[in-house]
Amino acid sequence: MPLQIRHPGESRDPAPYNHALTSTATTKLRSVAIIGGGPAGLMAAEAARSAGAEVNLYDRLGSVGRKFLIAGKGGLNLTHSEDFDAFVERYGAHRQDVARWLGDFDANAVRAWARALGTETFVGTSGRVFPMDLKAAPLLRAWLRRLRANGVHFHMRHRWLGWDDAGALRFAHDDGERNVRADAVVLALGGASWPVLGSDGAWVPVLRSREVGVEPLAPSNCGFDVGWSEHFASRHAGEPVKPVVIEWDHANGSTIRRQGEFVVTASGVEGSLIYALSAQLRDAIAAHGSTQIRLDLSPGRDVERLARELSLPRERRSLSEHLRRRAGIDGVKSALLREVLDRTELENPSRVAAMVKALPLTLVRPRPIEEAISSAGGVRFDALDEALMLKQVPSVFCAGEMIDWEAPTGGYLLTACFASGRAAGVAAAAWALRE
Ligand SMILES: Cc1cc2nc3c(=O)[nH]c(=O)nc-3n(C[C@H](O)[C@H](O)[C@H](O)COP(=O)(O)OP(=O)(O)OC[C@H]3O[C@@H](n4cnc5c(N)ncnc54)[C@H](O)[C@@H]3O)c2cc1C
Repeated sequence: MPLQIRHPGESRDPAPYNHALTSTATTKLRSVAIIGGGPAGLMAAEAARSAGAEVNLYDRLGSVGRKFLIAGKGGLNLTHSEDFDAFVERYGAHRQDVARWLGDFDANAVRAWARALGTETFVGTSGRVFPMDLKAAPLLRAWLRRLRANGVHFHMRHRWLGWDDAGALRFAHDDGERNVRADAVVLALGGASWPVLGSDGAWVPVLRSREVGVEPLAPSNCGFDVGWSEHFASRHAGEPVKPVVIEWDHANGSTIRRQGEFVVTASGVEGSLIYALSAQLRDAIAAHGSTQIRLDLSPGRDVERLARELSLPRERRSLSEHLRRRAGIDGVKSALLREVLDRTELENPSRVAAMVKALPLTLVRPRPIEEAISSAGGVRFDALDEALMLKQVPSVFCAGEMIDWEAPTGGYLLTACFASGRAAGVAAAAWALRE
């Protein structure tokens, strides 16, 4: 079926539950419970409150937005400046589903939203969009001030456990269990990466017990284990490899080739270049047990030139010095060659030249989800209706990373969390306020 993506501003059918929204909103408040105070839940709270619902937001931790704040440590990449069609391509197999939310809240909307909260943004050289001050805390503070001023009620240290027999929400609180009723609910519980920041994936069995289809949570934007020698790991863990090109052969016969940088870890590799390929690498390991990448350690030189230069007499120079002078290879790049080639191969200029241009590394497993930047898997799209309501649990909507989509880093994660939060908040308010 051809892909049909609605662009920002194009109209679509009205949300299924939006009848009676305005008339009831003015006469009686109906309640929406938002569970999870990450970017998706906070945006859902804002949208539901703007639509006229009473909004109560619950979170298991003592404060909201912890992962958002950590994202600020890396400069807070809020969104990306590329055009809409290129932007939605980043959501891979689920781009059509994600584009539905992005049609109403795209990268420009994210920038306008930040500006309204006093945070101007800029486009970096890579096209990524950041706050001028590269910080998350001032933006989050201003957002929470506005949400409180608009009447959103916050309930911290409330861990959602599921529903009781009468259909009320069950929360574990410091002083025991609390049961809460709401006319509509938005679950924005996140995935399972960095659980110390709140999202631990404990909701998966709860929703499965209600027969909601949930794909297993898996690491996304993650590192991989290689299994370095003790000698290499102890000397080079933490060092960046740059510039470097990674080549990877897809099972469909195509070869992906990307330039950038990655970091050597104690057990393998991580960093932006690895994250960009991590979904395909993870899936290939799941299918075949391991997968091989090739490193081009000298992207600017061709193999013939390298072989020629390396064949020149070494005289009394060490091999390391020869590699540095003739091929521009030193430090961690030189160590990578030694990690893969034995002593005899290292003395063979054409073999070394070939390996500088295509050093094979076998990735044996992704790092655990707890260490990943984000999660893949989650609530299946076919378990949700168009308005993000669970088909098996009417009146309960989902938003954010807990839904089964994934995207590379580059601002695509936060943008989809904001956009889905907004969509779920609007729809939950419409459901709560319907006649
Ligand atoms: C180190 C790091 C850097 C990142 N940098 C960026 C970046 O620069 N740009 C970008 O686009 N993305 C970035 N991300 C990803 C981005 O932060 C997440 O995709 C985003 O926070 C997910 O939002 P969410 O609202 O769906 O879930 P979360 O932010 O995980 O929020 C979920 C909330 O639900 C609460 N919760 C969970 N279970 C329960 C329960 N049972 N009861 C009550 N409350 C519960 C949690 O306490 C949490 O507050 C980064 C992630 C990490 C880890």
